[in-house]
Amino acid sequence: YYVPKIYCRGPNPAPQREDLLAQHVLLGPMEWYLCGEDPAFGFPKLEQANKPSHLCGRVFKVGEPTYSCRDCAVDPTCVLCMECFLGSIHREHRYRMTTSGGGGFCDCGDTEAWKEGPYCQKHELNTSETAEEEDPLVHLPEDMVVRAYNIFAITFKYAVDILTWEKENELPGLEMIEKSDTYYCMLFNDEVHTYEQVIYTLQKAVNCTQKEAIGFATTVDRDGRRSVRYGDFQYCDQAKSVIVRNTSRQTKPLKVQVMHSSIVAHQSFGLKLLTWLGSVIGYSDGLRRILCQVGLQEGPDGENSSLVDKLMLYDSKLWKGARNVYHQLFMSSLLMDLKYKKLFAIRFARNYRQLQRDYMEDDHERAVSVAALSVQLFTVPTLARMLITEENLMTTIIKTFMDHLRHRDIQGRFQFERYTALQAFKFRRVQSLIVDLKYVLISKPTEWSDDLRHKFLEGFDAFLELLKCMQGMDPITRQVGQHIEMEPEWEAAFTLQMKLTLVISMMQDWCALDEKVLIEAYKKCLTVLMQCHSGFTDGEQPIVLSMCGHSVETIRYCVSQEKVSIHLPVSRLLAGLHVLLSKTEVAYKFPELLPLSELSPPMLIEHPLRCLVLCAQVHAGMWRRNGFSLVNQIYYYHNVKCRREMFDKDIVMLQTGVSMMDPNHFLMIMLSRFELYQIFSTPDYGKRFSTENTNKDVVQQNNTLIEEMLYLIIMIVGERFSPGIGQVNATDEIKREIIHQLSIRPMAHSELVKALPEDENRETGMESVIEEVACFKKPGLTGRGLYELKPECARNFNLYFYHFSRAEQSKAEEAQRKLKRQNREDTALPPPALPPFCPLFASLVNILQSDVMLCIMGTILQWAVEHNGYAWSESMLQRVLHLLGMALQEEKQHLENLSEENVVTFTFTQKISRPGEAPNNSPSILAMLETLQNASHLEVHKDMIRWILKTFNTIKKLRESSSTSPVAETEGNIMEESSRDKDKAERKRKAEIARLRREKIMAQMSEMQRHFINENKELFQQTLEELDTSTSGVHENSPVISDAKLTALGPEQTRVAEHRQVVMCILCQEEQEVKVDSRAMVLAAFIQRSTVLSKNRNKITPDPEKYDPLFMHPDLSCGTHTGSCGHIMHAHCWQRYFDAVQAKEQRRQQRLRVHTSYDVENGEFLCPLCECLSNTVIPLLPPPRVLFNRLDFSGQPNLTQWIKTISQQIKRMYLLRDEDSNSGNSEKMDQLQLPEGFRPDFKPKNPYSESIKEMLTTFGTATYKVGLKVHPNEEDPRVPIMCWGSCAYTIQTIERILADEDKPLFGHLPCRQDDCLTSLTRFAAAHWTVSSLPAVQAHFCTLLASLVPNEKNGNLPCILDIDMFHLLVSLVLSFPAIHCQDFSGVSLGTGDLHLFHLVTMAHIIQILLTSSTEENGMDQENTNSEEEVAVLTLYKFLCQCTGSALKEISSGWHLWRNLKAGIMPFLRCSALFFHYLNGVPAPSEIQVNGTNQFEHLCSYLSLPNNLTCLFQENSEILNTLIESWCSNSEVKRYLEGKRHAISYARESNKLIDLPDDYSCLINQASNFSCPKSGGDKSRAPTLCLVCGTMLCSQSYCCQTELEGEDVGACTAHTYTCGSGVGIFLRVRECQVLFLAGKTKGCFYPPPYLDDYGETDQGLRRGNPLHLCKERFKKIQRLWQQHSITEEIGHAQEANQTLVGIDWQHL
Ligand SMILES: [Zn+2]
Ligand SMILES: [Zn+2]
Ligand SMILES: [Zn+2]
Ligand SMILES: [Zn+2]
Ligand SMILES: [Zn+2]
Ligand SMILES: [Zn+2]
Ligand SMILES: [Zn+2]
Repeated sequence: YYVPKIYCRGPNPAPQREDLLAQHVLLGPMEWYLCGEDPAFGFPKLEQANKPSHLCGRVFKVGEPTYSCRDCAVDPTCVLCMECFLGSIHREHRYRMTTSGGGGFCDCGDTEAWKEGPYCQKHELNTSETAEEEDPLVHLPEDMVVRAYNIFAITFKYAVDILTWEKENELPGLEMIEKSDTYYCMLFNDEVHTYEQVIYTLQKAVNCTQKEAIGFATTVDRDGRRSVRYGDFQYCDQAKSVIVRNTSRQTKPLKVQVMHSSIVAHQSFGLKLLTWLGSVIGYSDGLRRILCQVGLQEGPDGENSSLVDKLMLYDSKLWKGARNVYHQLFMSSLLMDLKYKKLFAIRFARNYRQLQRDYMEDDHERAVSVAALSVQLFTVPTLARMLITEENLMTTIIKTFMDHLRHRDIQGRFQFERYTALQAFKFRRVQSLIVDLKYVLISKPTEWSDDLRHKFLEGFDAFLELLKCMQGMDPITRQVGQHIEMEPEWEAAFTLQMKLTLVISMMQDWCALDEKVLIEAYKKCLTVLMQCHSGFTDGEQPIVLSMCGHSVETIRYCVSQEKVSIHLPVSRLLAGLHVLLSKTEVAYKFPELLPLSELSPPMLIEHPLRCLVLCAQVHAGMWRRNGFSLVNQIYYYHNVKCRREMFDKDIVMLQTGVSMMDPNHFLMIMLSRFELYQIFSTPDYGKRFSTENTNKDVVQQNNTLIEEMLYLIIMIVGERFSPGIGQVNATDEIKREIIHQLSIRPMAHSELVKALPEDENRETGMESVIEEVACFKKPGLTGRGLYELKPECARNFNLYFYHFSRAEQSKAEEAQRKLKRQNREDTALPPPALPPFCPLFASLVNILQSDVMLCIMGTILQWAVEHNGYAWSESMLQRVLHLLGMALQEEKQHLENLSEENVVTFTFTQKISRPGEAPNNSPSILAMLETLQNASHLEVHKDMIRWILKTFNTIKKLRESSSTSPVAETEGNIMEESSRDKDKAERKRKAEIARLRREKIMAQMSEMQRHFINENKELFQQTLEELDTSTSGVHENSPVISDAKLTALGPEQTRVAEHRQVVMCILCQEEQEVKVDSRAMVLAAFIQRSTVLSKNRNKITPDPEKYDPLFMHPDLSCGTHTGSCGHIMHAHCWQRYFDAVQAKEQRRQQRLRVHTSYDVENGEFLCPLCECLSNTVIPLLPPPRVLFNRLDFSGQPNLTQWIKTISQQIKRMYLLRDEDSNSGNSEKMDQLQLPEGFRPDFKPKNPYSESIKEMLTTFGTATYKVGLKVHPNEEDPRVPIMCWGSCAYTIQTIERILADEDKPLFGHLPCRQDDCLTSLTRFAAAHWTVSSLPAVQAHFCTLLASLVPNEKNGNLPCILDIDMFHLLVSLVLSFPAIHCQDFSGVSLGTGDLHLFHLVTMAHIIQILLTSSTEENGMDQENTNSEEEVAVLTLYKFLCQCTGSALKEISSGWHLWRNLKAGIMPFLRCSALFFHYLNGVPAPSEIQVNGTNQFEHLCSYLSLPNNLTCLFQENSEILNTLIESWCSNSEVKRYLEGKRHAISYARESNKLIDLPDDYSCLINQASNFSCPKSGGDKSRAPTLCLVCGTMLCSQSYCCQTELEGEDVGACTAHTYTCGSGVGIFLRVRECQVLFLAGKTKGCFYPPPYLDDYGETDQGLRRGNPLHLCKERFKKIQRLWQQHSITEEIGHAQEANQTLVGIDWQHL
């Protein structure tokens, strides 16, 4: 009764209020009743009395990391939660981590899940006491048991009833419906409609905003349903019809229901109750058992009427949220109680058919279907076996599967052609049944009961029925004449095959475990195969083949004319079982038990042979007209995913066949199937054939077919590395695979894993053998770790390894020959020695010495000897030679293993020495080989022929030695030895000749080169210059004035001789000198806003239109960085290039509507030479200072005088300006003396050529546009400020990079940066000439006023809020605007020096004011040097000025140390600045790291080593200045502790610290929930590597609006954190993400590597990952160097698909 009152109020749910009320009114009383006392005491008591379970059972959240152990887990579905994992022994094992998709629980404590260490430390504690069979109810008081029964029975039933309630507007009992009642319009989730469709429809149907619609859609997606309208019936019904109408057009409509509000309320409460039950049983195992009993108790309606059954069977009708809740309850109750887990498993198995049928109809994903619980039940070995024997589960699953694939052809085979969308959907779903089957089979029985045998074989029968439906499916016929019209459907059949591959293998594994089962299964399989083949010879006329005195009867069948199918699972299963039989003893001891007599070898081989012939014919190009579907099928037939149960087994079947029949007969049938019988059975056919037949295609075809057939014979004889065929074990097989993979080239771990077939545990077995055959090579900064084949393994290399693709084969051949040449061995690649066959297959080798084989080989050799016409090919010969080699190896081994009583039956050597019989009288094979050895056209094969002949001789000697005395043998060896020596000597001689010849050629070459260079000197010079782009002459070409002291500025500035600077345009290859009056040369450049140096990432960006950038705040929150690739062009060449790019781009965008990696509209282009992203150009200029430094008198004013003069000049200027606006001010003018030589009316002449001026404006405007994010306006007075700022900021970033990497200031800058800084500084210094003089003068005045106050400029930032280096650069670069009007004879250099000193002093005060020195701790030397005394004095003066608000510091040593450290970055920046401005080379001392850097810097910058001397020298004016600085109100507030200020030296920014173990990050991310949708787990948690913020990326919930567009959380974050550039780590994908702006982005390899030196992007492999510090540093360097955008540009150019990704929504 209370329920609706609580749960149905209004259109929107208010979960918190509802929960509170429900707890209070409804649940609370029940808890009281249950406990019989206050639950606050009752529950803890219960918990204490409970013997906690030794099972963990933690249910995984989405994205939570899970761990499995590759060494100990019984199957890959056994997982641990992070907590358990960290406390388990598996930490030290080869574990695998994955992120959970939600659902499933921790298997810690489950002894059946782990071969070793089933408990973690925490759960181990609980094992000792718990006796398995103990009834947990004994721990509960009896009255409580009764109460629990009551309450659980009622509540559980209530919940189940209401959830399974089907009527829309009627209630179970209780209430009546009234007209005035309220209703909900309920929208349900499905998998058909997209987010966008739902959002769009909702907006239309219920008239809501887009935001609300997104909210609805998100909830629907998450919970499975959401009410979208609340009100009376009609109101809701109307919305329903709109939604249905709107979505029914394309697909089936969205599911909408109008529901009575009371029903919705009760359902909500029902769910609440289930959750509550789940939490209550968490207190006690006893309560849990009671709930299980209640749940499984059979109801009044008999079978399937228990509450659990009801829920399960109703599953597909429930919405997602409800399913999740009750699944969780099942997991925490039924699955946690061992006794009831079993009972539940039985219920589940009995309902299996029905559940699967429901699942097929259901449109929800499997994860939220109850069917998905199969993994929890079937993978428990005891349960699985119990279900097989008692519930016949195997048969049930297979039969259910068959039921759902009804579409068959006339022969009863599956038919996938013309599937409807619905059938395709069902086909996808039905595949999960195969997975279930796999689960059941995963753990193999250790003991067999008769029952198990019986039920397994029953299941096997069903399985054979299934395979029978696949045998021969999708048959194809060769298309002649016309190309097929439509590619036939083939994928479904292969999907099925692929999914079944593991199951087929597992079936065989099960059979292998028990002889009785194996024999039975073998018989059954054979019977089914016979059924499949019945009617196989019907209506065919048998034909007789005869060759070399043998003849055989077979049917007439041509692959190229009749139907053939690739799908032969029954034959292949039989082949597999046959091999297993060969391993057992029964096969030899009691052959009568086997149905061997029933076998008809020709019948067995027929279909596999047809399939292999098909492959050969496809390869020979005979099936071209059948299209790509066939090519794909052949590909998959050989592919590692399928081959184990396809191609491999076909070979086995042929081997089986040959071992049971006369090899001559086999070969003839084979020739006939290959349609080559005519060629070899008719003498001289080849000769006639080649002369008569002029159709080259047919000849070519036949050649290929012969090659393929020879290859097949090689495989049949040579492939004996499967246990059961050859005498080998499983590791030999894997070893061989790995050796052959690595013969192609060294490979990474993951590549190898991919090349090897996996077993049901997703293991390849590689780990156990890899060390034996390969060495590991660690990766560098890029790339990955590689395995390299050990040299001694190369002798096991088989060129005709059957798993090589054709491309791999030729690569391997080349690699191996190259290796042999390097080792100076002969290049023959003879067949390796092979292990002997198992007895069942032993007779197979005779195929090599059979008459037909000898005839085939002889014929081909004959062709080669005669070598006229094109009826033979070299690969044919190569294969014959290989076969000869194999036969010789075989004979040699036979002889070596000779025992007394055995007679060697393998007499190949004798046979090949025998000449052919009459009438041919052909020479013997041996004789032909000897002839071929000298044939000139067979150079490549000579080594191989020689090897064969040598082996032949060895065998001959072996044969002789076995009959004669051992002396002969040694003699033979010696002979052999000497011949080998001779061989060697010959080889050496040849090598020597070759070396001499090489040297001669080299000499000739270099002579030619020299000649060429002389002739083309100019051209050569150019290329050199191109290579070394640093063309600026100053510091490279200047003869360093070595002894003199180098000074960068001031009147003492070292004079540097001027240089001609000649550069070349990369576009027109013309050279030009950089001169003031010539055409402009420019560098491609990229300007970007940067926060790399920011000390305050939360700063709100001010309105760009009004923002005054004159003073840079010392937090450097946003600067303008300029970079360049250093490539030089003519300004006009660049302009032409850019115009062309623009035009092309416009055309392209119109046509294709695709974006490029660069945004032309924003002025972006790619450097024409290196494709580096650029958005403007910097002009190249000669040193600008020289142009204006016209007077250089001695006797310059000192700082005090200079400041006075300047102040006067400024005053004068202001007056003049006032006069302009207000002409009545002339008396004031007169009062003020015009400073001597100052001519404010003088307008300086601009020295630059027009084209340079234009470029100055271009670059200035670009800096302004990008730096402020405004529209370009070259008139804006802020343009020059931005230019100076960019110059200052760029220098600062470079200084930081050098400092961080501990590199000296000069001498280590890459050319491109050096060029860029030179041009940038010179440009910034020249820019004032193209801007308005008064504006620049005004800037200078304001800047200066911040240090030297005047009455005109009030309200300037205090010195704590000014970045002094930016101030210095702006002051120095704007000063010429004043100076150009000063003809008093004061040099520009003097001004620079004074400005520098002034700013330096201000910076010192800044440092002293903000230093936070603690006096303790440091050991101080008691030296009391001059500097220390002086700085202490200065500090005391500061204390005076600030009214003693400054902290008392008595240690001059500390102060001086602090000051030195604090001012270093400033001095270093200044040194760079003046170096580039004035072109004075850096003294060699600061080009290297070393001591006394500080002193050398001071001297270069003409500063006294004791910086405080500056104050003493100028105390006259400075005392006043300091007082004025300190009296600023902001400074006072700071000193009073009311505000914060930056202190020095500023630390460099770094990317955040990352943990060493990647799983820490995964865990962190799984605990992160979306900040916007209230506690929901984020789907794509993404970590900002700059500031460490975790974001909810790629999701609707966290989209925000930015500049009028919706953007994802990452893009939004980049705007605040990185001014548009961002570096993120996508935690679930283990991938670094670079973003720049809204449209640019790329992925970058993460800095985490596994033990094999590989990254794991996408976390697919799941190996443990650890941080690679070097790689992380590399990313950090990219960031610090501002190369992220460039990196993205390169990535996008290289991979066009990146351009299309919707970066802005990430
Ligand atoms: Zn756990
Ligand atoms: Zn545990
Ligand atoms: Zn382990
Ligand atoms: Zn040019
Ligand atoms: Zn370039
Ligand atoms: Zn979110
Ligand atoms: Zn950030």
